[in-house]
Amino acid sequence: MGFKELLQKLKTAGTTAEKKKNDKYPNRFLKFYHTNKERLLKERKSTYMDKKKQGVCVRCGNKALEGIVFCEYHQQKQIGYNQKARTK
Ligand SMILES: [Zn+2]
Repeated sequence: MGFKELLQKLKTAGTTAEKKKNDKYPNRFLKFYHTNKERLLKERKSTYMDKKKQGVCVRCGNKALEGIVFCEYHQQKQIGYNQKARTK
């Protein structure tokens, strides 16, 4: 077997292995997303729930008003948005 043939074989083998590896996920970012999405979603959810439980504003982390998930500032902001939406 000549050197060129050997090189060609190695190249082909490499491509095949690479293709197999990438069949499930088109790229490593998607692979990361798929392997971690359950954990990521759980973490995102728990942060919101934790803040709600702790009585902390979900927007800025300051102390939230009782019964809602916003602090006074963000609650006012929220009311402002709603009023604006109504007058339009
Ligand atoms: Zn806030």
